[in-house]
Parts: sequence; C-alpha cells; structure tokens
Amino acid sequence: MSDINAPTEAILLDGNATAKTIRVEIAAGVKRLQAEKGITPHLAAVLMGNDPASETYVAMKERMCTRVGMTSSLHRLGNDCTQAQAEELVRGLNADPNVSGILVQHPLPKHLHEPAILDCVAWEKDVDGISTGSLGALINGEPAFPSCTPAGIIELMDRYGIAIEGKRAVVVGRSIILGKPVAMMLLNRNATVTICHSRTPNLAEYTREADILVAAVGRPELITGDMIKPGAAVLDAGYNRVEGRQGDVGDVEFETAKRVAKYLTPVPGGVGPMTIAMLLRNTLRAAGGS
Ligand code: NAP
Repeated sequence: MSDINAPTEAILLDGNATAKTIRVEIAAGVKRLQAEKGITPHLAAVLMGNDPASETYVAMKERMCTRVGMTSSLHRLGNDCTQAQAEELVRGLNADPNVSGILVQHPLPKHLHEPAILDCVAWEKDVDGISTGSLGALINGEPAFPSCTPAGIIELMDRYGIAIEGKRAVVVGRSIILGKPVAMMLLNRNATVTICHSRTPNLAEYTREADILVAAVGRPELITGDMIKPGAAVLDAGYNRVEGRQGDVGDVEFETAKRVAKYLTPVPGGVGPMTIAMLLRNTLRAAGGS
C-alpha cells in the first residue's frame, strides 16, 4: 500500500547537529548560572570494573562537560569491589554539595546488584534518570530527570516538529533504559502506544501501523522498509557491530527504510549524540540552571 503524499526519500533527523545546538544552549545556561548564582554544574561519574566501552563513554561524557563549561570528576572502583563499597561511594556523592549530578556508568560488574546501586543515587542528582524513583516519577508524571536516550528521542522529534499527540506509536524493545521509558514518554505526550518485544508474533503487523516507530532492539536491520508505514517517523536507537561491516549498524535497514519513511534517524549520527546532550541538560538543571 503506498501513500502518494509520502516523500521519495526520508528527511534525515540529524542528531549531531541537533546535539550541537543543544550544547550551545547548555553552555549559555552554564554561564548564566555562574553569573547569577556562582554555581558551576558538576557531574560525578562512577566507573566500576574495567569495561573498555564504559571507559570510552565516560571519557566522552567528561569531555562534553568541559566543552559546555561544566566540571566533572571520575570515581573508580575495581572489578572486585563489593556492593557495600559501591553503595557507600554513591551515598558519599549524594552528600557532597559540590556534586550536581551523578552518573553510574553501566554495565556494572556482574556480581553487583545494579538496581540497588542505581537506587542509592538521590533522585535530585539522578541525571541519568534510571533509578526506580526517577522511572516511577515518569509514570506518575512528576518532575524528575528523564532517562537520557529516551529523552533524546523525544527531543529530536520535537526539534523537527514531528507531532506526537494523537499518533500511533510503536516501540520495539522493552528494556528499562530505553524501550519502557520512551514508551511512557510517548504516552505522556498523548500518543497511543504499543510495545513490542521478542515474544511479539508477527512484528510487522504492528510496525506497519506506526506513525512513530522507535526501534530499540539491538538486532542489526531487524526493521526493513516493508515493515514501515509510508510517511512514518522512524527513530532508530540501535547500535550494532556486524562482522565484515565498518562502523555501527542500526536496528533499521537504512537503505530500504529511507524510501518509505518520512523522517528517519541515521546510524550513527541520529539518536546516539542526543544521549549525552540530555545528560548535560539534566546536569545543568540539577545544579539549578535552565
Ligand atoms: P536490551 O536490553 O537487550 O533490550 C532489547 C529489547 O529488544 C528487549 O526488550 C527484547 O525483547 C527486544 N527484542 C530482542 N529481539 C527482538 C526481536 N527479534 N523482535 C522484537 N523485539 C526484540 O537492549 P537495550 O539496552 O534496550 O538497547 C537496544 C539497542 O539500543 C542496542 O543496539 C543498544 O546498543 C542501543 N542503545 C543506544 C543508546 C544510545 O544511542 N545512546 C543507548 C542505549 C542503547 P525481550 O524483552 O522479550 O527480551
């Protein structure tokens, strides 16, 4: 079924450019906060274990803090740290008045109980937005810091003027860091939301109904053009390594999707860069800025 109004090629949602614009806004917010209240936002990053990808992510987050005029600190615990040591470290950062926001980089070493450690982060410093309290607040529609990648997806749609209210949204994936919170954010914005997962039979039956399709799966090119409603907005959060291919591959097959969708995020350069932009914005707000 084709839609004569659908464009021949999708408009690409440029996460790099959008994140850059947001960083400029944040840098201005930091300057204002320093001038008005003498406060410089400070992000405390907690790194447990020695996962190389986590090292890279944390270094990138610290670099971005510097770029927007914030300060940051890195708090390390070894691979063999205990649950008590991890919780004590986080509680110490909660109590430190110089720390505006706390980021516990995950995944944590396997022997640790990750939710319990995340839940030690005081909600007013939970700039990653993934503690039970922050997620509960999202469900209740109460103010808390929104989880960064889901918030980045919504922000990207807003910046491109993509309407959410009244639209049929389908989220593929139900993880606690991505699928569930983005579904809740879409619901809070009055979309009608369906969440699909690995036990959903006939996935395409659902995705083809979506005005807004969010892919948050971690399966390279699972969503092909024929699974997309013509004219849909397709947000691809997937970052997958595929042997024999250079760079990251999304959950959406870009070449076929771009001929059907009206809006599409590239991978890389779509959803990915928005995550850190949202982390910085949450940190600015945690410090009392805007
Ligand atoms: P995850 O925890 O592994 O969750 C994947 C979800 O996809 C699960 O809910 C799973 O269903 C569902 N799923 C798996 N295979 C499926 C299939 N064949 N059909 C339908 N659903 C299926 O992954 P995640 O942490 O949410 O990450 C998802 C992707 O986003 C990854 O590629 C990750 O790298 C990327 N990501 C990007 C960013 C960013 O851009 N900054 C941040 C975080 C994650 P079940 O629940 O039934 O198992």
